[in-house]
Amino acid sequence: MTSADIDQIVTHPVPERLLKSPDFPTPHVDSMEKYKAMWKESVEKPKEFFGKLATDLLSWSKPFQTVTHGSFEKGDVAWFLEGELNASYNCVDRHALKTPDKIAIIHEGDEPDKVRRITYGELLRDVCRMANVLKSLGVRKGDNVAIYMPMVPEAIVGILACARIGAIHSVVFAGFSAESLRDRVMDSSARVILTSDEGRRGGKNIATKRIVDDALRDRETPVEHVIVLRRTGTPVPWENDRDLWWHEEVAKARTFCSPEPMNSEDPLFLLYTSGSTGAPKGILHTTGGYLLGAAATVKYIFDYHENDIFACMADIGWVTGHSYIVYGPLTLGATTVLFESTPTYPNPSRFWNLIEKHKITQFYTAPTAIRALRRLGDEWVEGIDLSSLRVIGSVGEPINPEAWDWYNEKVGKGKCAVVDTYWQTETGSIIVSPLPGATPTKPGSATFPFFGIDPVILDPTTGKVMDVVDETGVLAIRQPWPSMARSVYNNHSRFMETYLSPYPGYYFTGDGASRDKDGYIWIRGRVDDVINVSGHRLSTAEIESALVHHETVAEAAVIGGFDSLTGQCIHAFVTLKPHIEATEDFLTKELTLQVRKIIGPFAAPKRIYIVNDHPKTRSGKIMRRVLRKIVDNEHKQLGDISTLADPSVVAVIIEKVHGPV
Ligand code: ATP
Ligand code: MG
Repeated sequence: MTSADIDQIVTHPVPERLLKSPDFPTPHVDSMEKYKAMWKESVEKPKEFFGKLATDLLSWSKPFQTVTHGSFEKGDVAWFLEGELNASYNCVDRHALKTPDKIAIIHEGDEPDKVRRITYGELLRDVCRMANVLKSLGVRKGDNVAIYMPMVPEAIVGILACARIGAIHSVVFAGFSAESLRDRVMDSSARVILTSDEGRRGGKNIATKRIVDDALRDRETPVEHVIVLRRTGTPVPWENDRDLWWHEEVAKARTFCSPEPMNSEDPLFLLYTSGSTGAPKGILHTTGGYLLGAAATVKYIFDYHENDIFACMADIGWVTGHSYIVYGPLTLGATTVLFESTPTYPNPSRFWNLIEKHKITQFYTAPTAIRALRRLGDEWVEGIDLSSLRVIGSVGEPINPEAWDWYNEKVGKGKCAVVDTYWQTETGSIIVSPLPGATPTKPGSATFPFFGIDPVILDPTTGKVMDVVDETGVLAIRQPWPSMARSVYNNHSRFMETYLSPYPGYYFTGDGASRDKDGYIWIRGRVDDVINVSGHRLSTAEIESALVHHETVAEAAVIGGFDSLTGQCIHAFVTLKPHIEATEDFLTKELTLQVRKIIGPFAAPKRIYIVNDHPKTRSGKIMRRVLRKIVDNEHKQLGDISTLADPSVVAVIIEKVHGPV
């Protein structure tokens, strides 16, 4: 970032309404002083801080003795040793005992009029039944179960049933191909797959079971049984000695199953990262620390209070769905919203109608959705009552200030806390974010570390801590925190190599970041994406934000291509808002000027391509690696693109860059 850029940044104070209105609960942390004091204690005295938090937020069947143990150097991090607990007990039983009629899950189906409400009492019964089904099939503590399901309550039931008996679940996003599913099932040695006949999304049926069949066809696999939920009723092929109907099995099962006491460090789940950078890794999370991270961040970062309706729009196939649809909200006994549809079905008001209908208090989505909805125009969000909202969140990519402002003004009406939350599958829960009642925000900055997180910015070459303002380095974390991943499944050396060995003594995030003069953290995109032009280190996020700042631009992706003169040169791929009349020539000139003005002449793109779409992962992130290869004439070797949402985009872009083939 340049100083010119900094002067343009507006700091938003905590909205008055959150601190002063009698209609709202007092935030858990209501001043910067309080945040700072708590943060300081959390990193200086983690034993005291997290020992207390783990006792306050979780129920243990056997108390822990050792709060924190191990180190990054040795790769043996452990939390709450000797302690025993069960995640499903924490998420269900203890609330079902106290408030059995409280709604645990609001399921908004693909069709807006299809709403199901499930109480904690009902959830307990359903989870127990499914746990008994799994047991009857021989699934034991430590066995693996794959879950390949649409966004229906039974998916949550499946997750919690595994947790109840100590089976390790591995949820695979139900948009993945048969091949991707197969790779993940093989890698995790899953004995059982939970699935459905079909899924439904955006008014279309998705052949879920058929993809499972294809994944298992003609090959030796570890899978013994496939349990099939009837979602649409469309007839599906059947393997008699392998496939079982969900409804038939649960009907036979007893309605109570006692929760298996798990050691705090016993595995809870595996989750493959979303694959933006390369081959996906089976990230392993354990029980106590993970659950604490998920619950604590819902409490503090979303400022959760007892009667809130918490809505996270991610898919349960991503870590965001795990922590912020399932484990975080349910551990706190919240009502969580499970949304089966898309932001634009049946029209682009869907999110906003959802908020109005269920009186949602916390709403959490991704920049890709925010940019897409902003592109479609304000009329879709205007006139809808969004006054129930207190906190609106963003996760997954850097959010451009332009999109942040839109979210704040059009959705939050300037009266909500906007939390730009930075984290990863590997961190288990949010690690950098504002706190609603405490942190003044700057659009585009994830602001400050969460409790227990001690972030540093390292010089990528020397590995030394950089104490310079506004210089981009690599983001690393100085000490272990409870919800961090413990390993890559069956490959601890890959875990060490990827995260703990690159900068000894630190956890390496792989993301670039800088700190401004007020100490705010700016995530600058992946380290591999940082561009070096004639010795200037530039971040993709900065240049992209400058482009999105232009009134015609919907979304931008910037990469560094090879250049014999300057080392690297900048190529930008932009999509436009609808109904833009200007010629490409005119626009590329305008946009180049824009970047020169906001960042500086050295950051001006060498080429700007106007495209209809970007190559994105199925979680909606731009895959810059693909664009880089196209520009560098290496598109014959694109590597693993199985996680691309729409592979046909690639051919269109190749043609745009290299001309028709
Ligand atoms: P893979 O690791 O397989 O390449 P992935 O990194 O996209 O996939 P996730 O764990 O889902 O998989 O995403 C974490 C990454 O998303 C972070 O490392 C960061 O690059 C990006 N990210 C998440 N939240 C934010 C945010 N608020 N601001 C900027 N970047 C973010
Ligand atoms: Mg990653």
